[in-house]
Amino acid sequence: MCSDVWLSSKQFPKPNMIPVNHYRTGDQALVREINLSLIMNHLRTNAPISRAALAETTGLNKTTVSSLVNELIERQFVQEIGLASPSSGRPATLLKLNPTAGFIVSCEIGTYFILVICTDFSPKVIWRHQEPFDLELGQHAIIERMLAILNQAIESGCSACGPLLGITIGIPGLVDQSTGTLLFAPNLGWKDIPIRAILQESFKVPLFVDNEGNIAALGEHYFGAAEGYDEVLYISAGVGLGGGIVHNGHVFSGVTGVGAEFGHMTLDPDGEICKCGNQGCWETQVSQQALFRHVWRRINQGEVSRLAEMTGRRRDALTVPLIVEAARAGDAVALTALEIIGRHLGIGIASLVNALNPELVVFGGILSLAGEFLMPVIEKEVEQRTLKWNRGAMRLVLAKHGSDACVMGGVATVYQAILAQPDIVGALFA
Ligand SMILES: [Zn+2]
Repeated sequence: MCSDVWLSSKQFPKPNMIPVNHYRTGDQALVREINLSLIMNHLRTNAPISRAALAETTGLNKTTVSSLVNELIERQFVQEIGLASPSSGRPATLLKLNPTAGFIVSCEIGTYFILVICTDFSPKVIWRHQEPFDLELGQHAIIERMLAILNQAIESGCSACGPLLGITIGIPGLVDQSTGTLLFAPNLGWKDIPIRAILQESFKVPLFVDNEGNIAALGEHYFGAAEGYDEVLYISAGVGLGGGIVHNGHVFSGVTGVGAEFGHMTLDPDGEICKCGNQGCWETQVSQQALFRHVWRRINQGEVSRLAEMTGRRRDALTVPLIVEAARAGDAVALTALEIIGRHLGIGIASLVNALNPELVVFGGILSLAGEFLMPVIEKEVEQRTLKWNRGAMRLVLAKHGSDACVMGGVATVYQAILAQPDIVGALFA
């Protein structure tokens, strides 16, 4: 059965911010909460593990571990899964996080689609739905459709694994995290939409709303290419260009939560006008549209390309996978267009690496489908343009989750909140 206990999203820690009241005096309740979180996090990374091993790795005494583990078992977050067979001594009961502790729903509103997944607590995807929309339908109709799909996801999750633990919505725009309001989404043409308030009318669970790049960065950190890395730069190139910064294991997004808008850094002061209103933003140089523009310009100039035939000379039939296919066949137009995009990507990434000194750069989004052609060019630019002390400590990799990066990040967002403060989320079961 689904939880029907309402908790204001303000009662939940934002995934990337520690509430001011977190810094209270170190009373017993706080110590217990920290220890619960410590055990949950160790179970996430080290399970299956025994109580004795948990005590050893966390530094907590065995009595404390035993008491807290029993509490987590009672609240369904943890389960016993059998006995270990040590070389000496008594067999010990092994523990892990309970996959059926509840389910998480995660949604991405893209520029042309809505994607919703539902996962158990492992987190395994147990339900998935994606459908396109026409922006001309208008924001009201599109949001209504999103609500309907979320309800389908919840119905499916409820029948599979217990209570709903939380919902995350990722949007390609700037979000006021204190209110969950979409401030501006240039590629949707939407402004000032109180997404979280709209959701609160229908869903009485923790709700998280954030920029898709921030969310995807957390997803790669938790479940993807950046697992085990705490200082990560995530770049997502598709319809728009964005990303996120993971700092010390948490998403860093600036004082009002709208940072990491990399796509709107000015890289060409005399360049094209961007949808944000400024001129020469990085996004005008690097996006799916910019790639298509380079291809089409050459075809129109009379250069021979198999893409003309593959698309029936229809520009709207051009896709990134088609360009990749053409490039693999040695098509010069496709290869040149990818080279130009890769160069612009590399120049911007090099600047960000110099500014942020990450240990890992993860490249995702639709353009990462062309990673085999873009990555060598990016690497060359980064090699040339970053300070050697930055470059030496850094690796550049492709994202793991591809087009699911945002929704997997949405799952990570709820997951991180639960692991940070299992007590608060546990109130849902009261
Ligand atoms: Zn811009």
